Amino acid sequence: MSGQPALACWNCGASLADVALPISRHAFCAACGEAVHCCRQCVNFDSRVSGQCTEGRAEPPNDRTAANFCEWFGPAGGPSGGPAGDARRAADAARARLEALFGPAPDET
Ligand SMILES: [Zn+2]
Repeated sequence: MSGQPALACWNCGASLADVALPISRHAFCAACGEAVHCCRQCVNFDSRVSGQCTEGRAEPPNDRTAANFCEWFGPAGGPSGGPAGDARRAADAARARLEALFGPAPDET
């Protein structure tokens, strides 16, 4: 499937494209050595909810950065488990501010 976003290490942002799927508990980031199969890399990790996990059936370990045995683990796309879209949104906001000041960017064709 081509819709799968590229995985990036939750800690350093390095590409995890070389990590075999499904992600093993013994997988580590080649760049920083942190565990990949951990809460911080998981789609269910959310620092805003109690237990920092959106999967209510899971029993989150105390150490969110250590490899876990969670059956609900699903790899998230980017650093800190946050969506990669944050940077894009910030760029869009910056461009919108510039356009407000200087008008739309000139046609580059
Ligand atoms: Zn890393």
